[in-house]
Amino acid sequence: MDPLLRSELMALLSRDAAVIATRFGLRYRVIEAESPRVKRRYGVCFRDGTIRIRLAHVVTGKPLRYSSLVATLCHELAHLRHFNHGVRFRRFNQHLLEWARQAGIYRPHAEPSPRPSRPPPPLGSRPTPQPAAPRQLTLFG
Ligand SMILES: [Zn+2]
Repeated sequence: MDPLLRSELMALLSRDAAVIATRFGLRYRVIEAESPRVKRRYGVCFRDGTIRIRLAHVVTGKPLRYSSLVATLCHELAHLRHFNHGVRFRRFNQHLLEWARQAGIYRPHAEPSPRPSRPPPPLGSRPTPQPAAPRQLTLFG
């Protein structure tokens, strides 16, 4: 991905993450772009508060829609409160998304789509981040 676009997206994401986290009293360490080599997930939240968001489509390598990135961001931010995919997590994630929508941060239908792009799959079908698992950490080694 073009480095300029990448840093632009990360600047937007970091700004929006700060707004949401401040509103809900969530604390993260850093928002980073996921490595393009990691293909099994849209994002991950580690126990130390590091959040990584994948910016580009796995197959095409094209940037994902910003609304998709925000949806992933809200998912990972919700993990700062509930480190699982339980019902309380899902409820909180919905709450974050709804708040972000009303705040104009999450605009799933507002962006023109110049090329075919698919929305992220439903939460239940996303790969489950396993931040504590050593085998995942080796991906970054
Ligand atoms: Zn998750």
